[in-house]
Amino acid sequence: MLLRAPRTPLVLADLPLPAPGPGQLRVRVAACGVCRTDLHVADGELPRPKLPLVLGHEVVGRVDALGEGVTRFAPGDRVGIPWLGWTCGVCPACRSGRENLCPSARFTGYDLDGGYAEAAVVDARYAFPLPAGYSDVEAAPLLCAGLIGYRAWAPVREARRLGLYGFGAAAHVVAQLARHAGQEVFAFTRAGDAAAQAFARSLGAAWTGGSEERPPAPLDAAILFAPVGALVPAALAATAPGGTVVCAGIHMSDIPSFAYALLWGERTVRSVANLTRRDGEELLALAPAAGVRTEVTTYPLANAGRALDDLRGGHIRGAAVVVP
Ligand SMILES: [Zn+2]
Ligand SMILES: [Zn+2]
Repeated sequence: MLLRAPRTPLVLADLPLPAPGPGQLRVRVAACGVCRTDLHVADGELPRPKLPLVLGHEVVGRVDALGEGVTRFAPGDRVGIPWLGWTCGVCPACRSGRENLCPSARFTGYDLDGGYAEAAVVDARYAFPLPAGYSDVEAAPLLCAGLIGYRAWAPVREARRLGLYGFGAAAHVVAQLARHAGQEVFAFTRAGDAAAQAFARSLGAAWTGGSEERPPAPLDAAILFAPVGALVPAALAATAPGGTVVCAGIHMSDIPSFAYALLWGERTVRSVANLTRRDGEELLALAPAAGVRTEVTTYPLANAGRALDDLRGGHIRGAAVVVP
């Protein structure tokens, strides 16, 4: 499924089977998760995507061809392909354990063709072995919703009361990690979204409400998955002194100005960006240990455009996954 230009529908196209270059794997795609970032790219909210482009960076499949020099995987191995597709390895960020901030990084389904396809190639150093116990479609959302969720959660995993704003694919994984770690989860959704609130309660949320509501007790930390800048002051107002508000999305509407009193008291606002391979290793070990299950809605590959529309409309419980 090809994006020829932003703000145009994805089109089904016949492309030549990609050949793996040196150090690369070719993967037969079994499932690919649909991420909000795909929507931001398709909607033209992120600058300069490769065009035409195959979206998709939560790719699960099996290795079917090896490029020169690959020894890490063998044909038939099940692998996951995440958003981080390549880094330079020599810049200050790469050399200090922050390859997620490499200014030359290339991202799957953005700078590199991704997984809304029958086959994809990936640099073998950035592919992950996947834990058994998850089917292909269940494993797909771990590769971004899970990974970015994990990176957003890691700095606030000690907080006692954790607020999650926007209860989609990432939050449904993080809620389970948080419950496993003994945190109390407060889930904020669009006002009146009874289905999302019931879903959050089924995953252990102690309280659910609309995003402008105040929780019954102040939060110690909050993670914003909804791409809505107005939620930053709302989350700060719900957070106790010393608390942290983490913005997890790659794109957000502008944050309105707000009174300094909301930040005063050593509250912190921060973002998280992309992922490191270490995040992937940690999350893919923790998820099965914590008993994380993913809930997915599947779409045939040719209906990837409809999956994006359903995500835009907020109609997906858990994660959407396309299946070639
Ligand atoms: Zn670098
Ligand atoms: Zn993503």
